[in-house]
This record gives sequence, structure tokens and C-alpha cells, in this order.
Amino acid sequence: MTDRQQNNGLAVAADPAADEVTKIILEDKRPDIGEIELTLFENCHLNCFFCHHDKQSTVGLSREEIFSKLSLVEDHLIKMKGRAEVVQINMVGGELFQDRISEWAYPVYYDFLIAIKELYDKYEHNIKVVWVTSFQFIKREAVQKLIDDLNAADIPSYIICSYDFDGRPVKGPYGKNIEYFADYITSINMVATVPSIEKFMEDKDEYFHYLYEKFDNFYFDDYIPDKGFDHLIPSDSLYLEFLKFVYHNYPDINPMKDLISKDKNHMHCLSLNKVTIFPDNSTSNCRWDRYTPEDFNTPLHRKDNASMMQAYMNEHGCLSCRWWDKCGFRCYTQWDWKNRERDLPDCIMRMWFNYMEKIENEKSKA
Ligand code: SF4
Ligand code: SF4
Repeated sequence: MTDRQQNNGLAVAADPAADEVTKIILEDKRPDIGEIELTLFENCHLNCFFCHHDKQSTVGLSREEIFSKLSLVEDHLIKMKGRAEVVQINMVGGELFQDRISEWAYPVYYDFLIAIKELYDKYEHNIKVVWVTSFQFIKREAVQKLIDDLNAADIPSYIICSYDFDGRPVKGPYGKNIEYFADYITSINMVATVPSIEKFMEDKDEYFHYLYEKFDNFYFDDYIPDKGFDHLIPSDSLYLEFLKFVYHNYPDINPMKDLISKDKNHMHCLSLNKVTIFPDNSTSNCRWDRYTPEDFNTPLHRKDNASMMQAYMNEHGCLSCRWWDKCGFRCYTQWDWKNRERDLPDCIMRMWFNYMEKIENEKSKA
């Protein structure tokens, strides 16, 4: 029995000294931007199957609650001093751009970010704000005004819109907003659930092809697991087929793009530089407050992913792997999820890199 199996589900005390060693080992893989994930509230007018927020919740839905997050933002800016110049803020819901709250919420978002910018200036960080939205709103002028006003106030603001292969309609608000906000979109993000991967690999989605022609920045987010939704997590073998499919057909989709084309990469997980702030002002590195130790193979430490990262490296033998420089690793939270299907004998990333090397060698010999 491995150490990892012996530790299944047991919450042992965090070991800060060991975590520091892990971070030293990973220093050259640490991304050079910081991140603050600000989940203002979970409330949403939609009910997407891959999203496990409490859509009816009103926690965080007031000016006072939103402004109460300032001190948590400040804490992270202090922590990032000397470690990252740019600290990106992901403004996340729920859905922040809901027509039904636009009149009171958008001025609050603006005032809140003006206050945050003062903190950035104080601690000499550069700010970048990314609004994450499903694009299911019709009061687009109000959203545009908010973003224009922020840009005019020297707070660079962009939109990440999601594209769902398996659910949300593209006719109606979504399609209109794609056109209206085309110049504001910094990335179109998709979530690599089993149904999305399968539809993507069928390669028959006309609207995706339309988007792919129109925009040049796509990102496949890893599906972050949740209780009762194990069937959405790709098995190792499906994930490997997916990576191969991207390599052959869409090699400019992130985060695979750099892993395919560059020999030296940072890890794409930002958790060495990240804090997640929840609606009730609890914080974690990235893992949700509803997770329990039984959900993971390694002991659960919400405030710091380092021990999970170390377990990942131990299991795969990363430190002696020839792909260390090139590798971006995986989403550790998904990797560590207990009920994920592990049906391959080796590290997926290593198998993918070996596969691509073989193909490239064959091409150069041909
Ligand atoms: S390819 Fe696998 S074993 Fe090698 S460094 Fe990447 S994750 Fe670790
Ligand atoms: S472990 Fe996964 S969910 Fe957490 S920050 Fe890294 S990539 Fe994101």
C-alpha cells in the first residue's frame, strides 16, 4: 500500500515546513501573475448542470458585504509583494451581470474596484480585472458603461465569456452579446466535462466553429469536481484522447497551446499565487468550502494546496521526469478527487508529451 492510499480521507495537520520545501521546488514553475478570485455571490438566474453554486443564495448581495472583502484583497496584495507584479482579479458569481440587479449592482462594482485600485497603488501592483459571465443578459449598454468607466479610471477590464458545448442556448442574448462585446472579450472559456469533451471531439458544433474563426483566444478550464457529479470528470483515458485531439486539431487552444509549442512552461494552475474569496468572506487557496476530507485522496488543506502538489509530484515522479521544464502539470484538485476514474498506467501529461514527440519525430523523418 502506498503512503497516499494509507492517508485516504484522513485529515492530518498541515505541515508548513514541508509546504515551504514544496514551494521552493516549484519556484521555477510558479506563474508570474497573481490572482484573486472574488466570488461576490452565488446568486444566478441560470442553472447550468456543471455549476454547483446555490443559485438562490443572497449571501454577498449587498454593498456592505461586497465592500467587506477589501481587507481580504489587501491581505493578498501584501502577500504577493515581490512575487508578482500583475495581480489579476477574477470577478465571479453566480452571475454578476444579471439584468434584475443591474441598477444597484453596477455602481457598487465600480466603487468597489476604485477602492481596490487604491490598494493596488499602495502596494505597487498592476491591476487587471476580468469579468466572468455566461453572457445571458440583455442590458448590455449598462455592462458596457461599467467596463468603459473602469478602463477610463485606469483599471484595465476585460470579459471572459464561457461557451458551453452541452447546454446554454446561443440564440438570443448570448449570440447578441458575442457580437456586441467582441472587442472586450479576452478569452472564451470552455469547461472540460465529459459531455463537453465528447461534443468537442465530435467536431460538429457549428457555433463553436464560428467562434473559433472570430476569436483567437480559447481556454479549456478543467472541470472542478463536486459531490454527486463524478460522472462529469473525464477518465484519464478520455482526458488523454482529448489532449491528443487538441494537439492534432486545435493546437492554439489554451492552456495546451504553450505545452505543445514551448519547451519551458510554468504550471497553468495559479494556486501558488492565488486566493479565493467566497461570498461569506471565508477564503481558500482554491478549494470550495463544501468539500470534505472524504472527497480527496490526500489530506484536505483549504488554505494551501502545497501538500496536494507534493503528493502529485510524488505519485508521478515529476522530479526525475524529462518533461519537467515543458510540463504545466494538471489541475491538482481534479487529480486528487477520490472518485475520479484512474484507468491509465502512467501520468497523462507524460503520455501526451511522449505521443507528441513520437509524431513530431515521424514528421521530421518523412
Ligand atoms: S509529465 Fe507528468 S511526471 Fe512529468 S513533470 Fe509532467 S506531470 Fe510530472
Ligand atoms: S488546483 Fe485546479 S482548481 Fe485549484 S487553482 Fe489549480 S487549476 Fe484551479
